Amino acid sequence: MTTPMTRLTVLSGGMGGARFLQGLQQALATGRLPGVSPDAEITVIANTADDLWIHGLKVCPDLDTVMYTLGDGIDLDRGWGRRDETWSVKEELATYGVEPTWFGLGDRDIATHLVRTQMLDAGYSLSSVTEALCKRWDPGVRLLPMTDDRVETHVAIADPDSPSGRRVVHFQEYWVRLRAEVPAETVVFVGLDDSAPAPGVLDAITDADLVVLPPSNPVVSIGTILGVPRIREAVTATKAPVVGLSPIVGGTHVRGMAEQMLTSIGVEVSAAGVGLHYGARSAGGVLDGWLVDERDVDAVERVRAAGIASEAVPLMMTDHDATAAMAAAAVRLVS
Ligand code: GDP
Ligand code: CA
Repeated sequence: MTTPMTRLTVLSGGMGGARFLQGLQQALATGRLPGVSPDAEITVIANTADDLWIHGLKVCPDLDTVMYTLGDGIDLDRGWGRRDETWSVKEELATYGVEPTWFGLGDRDIATHLVRTQMLDAGYSLSSVTEALCKRWDPGVRLLPMTDDRVETHVAIADPDSPSGRRVVHFQEYWVRLRAEVPAETVVFVGLDDSAPAPGVLDAITDADLVVLPPSNPVVSIGTILGVPRIREAVTATKAPVVGLSPIVGGTHVRGMAEQMLTSIGVEVSAAGVGLHYGARSAGGVLDGWLVDERDVDAVERVRAAGIASEAVPLMMTDHDATAAMAAAAVRLVS
């Protein structure tokens, strides 16, 4: 008998990653993961390239979405920020005419950013701050930022009023203010090439029994994590199997804006397109297995032909149970 897996490592963005993690936790708690010990530890390496400074506060959208979701503090309807939120500070700032006004800073949420900013100002690293914040939220996973360094995704969009004909905005402005409605001409990852993996990140990949790429955005969530120097190499080299789940279902993202981002980097917007973009580990890529949705069953042969195990199963995260079944299918695919 082989020894059961005890160390699962997940590379995560915000909402897609967090929802998947809820299903993974449920699957683990109900013994639905074949070959995985019921008390296996989950380590989450979260994207921090969405982070921004706003009104003097350091905001980490993906870390907070994972922390609030798994800590049962998330607003379920919005999918981000705190439940039972109030907006007095935002209203007061608007009354002062202070820009920017498009970013949703709720009163409860601000407390998190105040604690984080104070600790960073006192010299603590983002990893230490995240660990401290998680003491309150108890997310049931070890949550690590991909890096302690400042990395920011910026998006170039067409702007007829600018002399160059284009304008560069922070990813959050593209997503929240512009609602990703204008085409992204290019995506630039400021600081990524000079960043270093946060403490524990490389070990979490190298020493894992299984590495999972959840249905997070392949460009601005997983793409940035893999872009931190040495992280992609660690995923390619780990002894653990690496399995991913397609964020594209039926040729489109379910929610979010993976479509715009894939188009901007010239990757086919399809379940097969994303799988082949990640590539087979046997060919220097990052995947041993790739799950696609039932309606993308045509993708399976193409993905297998590239040397990646593949199956078509339902991939809609409609509730914890459905998501737990996805997690179980992912484990099975590479077991
Ligand atoms: P973000 O940081 O909040 O944008 O979240 P992630 O990067 O973790 O995940 C966003 C991506 O999740 C979206 O672009 C979608 O492609 C994908 N997604 C969201 N819901 C579902 C779902 O129910 N099923 C699948 N397969 N993908 C989903
Ligand atoms: Ca994000």
